[in-house]
Amino acid sequence: MKPRQTREIRIGNVKIGGSNPIAVQSMTATRTIDIAATIRQVELLEAAGADVIRIAVDNPKDVTALAEIRADRPNANLVIDLQENYRLAEKVAPYVQKLRYNPGHLYHLEREKPIHEKVRYLVDVARAHGCAMRIGVNAGSVDPDKVAKYSHDDSITPMIESAMDHCAMLDDLGFDQYCVSIKDSDPNKVIDANIRFAEARPEVPLHLGVTEAGMPPDGIIKTRIAFEQLIARGIGDTIRVSLTLPFERKGDEITVGRQILDDIEQGRFRSVPRFEHKGLNIISCPSCSRVENEAFIDLAHNVREMTEYAKQHDITIAVMGCRVNGPGETDDADLGMWCAPSFVNLKRGPETIGQFTYDEILGRLRTELDKLIEEKRSVGAAV
Ligand code: SF4
Repeated sequence: MKPRQTREIRIGNVKIGGSNPIAVQSMTATRTIDIAATIRQVELLEAAGADVIRIAVDNPKDVTALAEIRADRPNANLVIDLQENYRLAEKVAPYVQKLRYNPGHLYHLEREKPIHEKVRYLVDVARAHGCAMRIGVNAGSVDPDKVAKYSHDDSITPMIESAMDHCAMLDDLGFDQYCVSIKDSDPNKVIDANIRFAEARPEVPLHLGVTEAGMPPDGIIKTRIAFEQLIARGIGDTIRVSLTLPFERKGDEITVGRQILDDIEQGRFRSVPRFEHKGLNIISCPSCSRVENEAFIDLAHNVREMTEYAKQHDITIAVMGCRVNGPGETDDADLGMWCAPSFVNLKRGPETIGQFTYDEILGRLRTELDKLIEEKRSVGAAV
């Protein structure tokens, strides 16, 4: 494995970057306001040996819940996942060791306020509380101004440029306790984006992950492909294996992550250098506090079961838990679903087909899938 050149940052009692071991992290899949369930997630992850644990916070109720979770789990290295509501940073920072923000969602609130002022606020809060930061770019929610600058075929450059811009903002503010992540559900894009970013900013620690990798074993295979290619090149200082799992199996993300690192360390490369988009590809998110309906996990598994008959067809189906990354991630899928509290949005590419109850959605998906297969057959596409 090529040595890493990144600078060292501290996340509570863990250091990443430089010659520190690659840290393995995960994120709680339950609603943060469901305090008992989220404490259980943290317990499972601590028991599995997680170095860092992320929890999503979107509103004042989540902040109150976080305080109770922290009181119950005093030793956990916690990170807060901030999306639209970045102003919660000062409320949550006293309870955590790191703040993750998504440049692609910073524009939602206070639209008249320049982005760099919002970033300055986040840096001031992080500094005041000794927190590290992560600039977390995700293919499902890239800064729309960046996306507009490039052709639809180039989804990687907008992500890299967004990350680079935010690195420059933090550098200008003299803050270096940050890392970056650039995630996509396509392992090949994760490899290409992180190699290009590391060439441009070799000193910035990287958090690696294939977002919405889906259910085991496919989700593990996709993740392993990206991690083997990047870590062998000395790229990657912390990892998250993002799997759609029943809540009680959350610790598997850590176990799988450690297994992949150990295999790479031992030179046991088990995957191919590039992800082959052959056959049915199911993308699903790991769920988090924003999940609109906890039936999402069962829905993802039922989709995989129901679509087994179509596994030889080169079709991508996305199943997402909410509107944060749901709409964006499903745009690129042949058929996409993202959850709402009492119904599921069904799309064909960027086109919305309709909203269906959790009881109706599988039947309707089957109908659309059969139509798609027939169309592919009729245009002589490879089946
Ligand atoms: S799509 Fe929504 S529910 Fe799923 S992990 Fe992302 S933010 Fe959480």
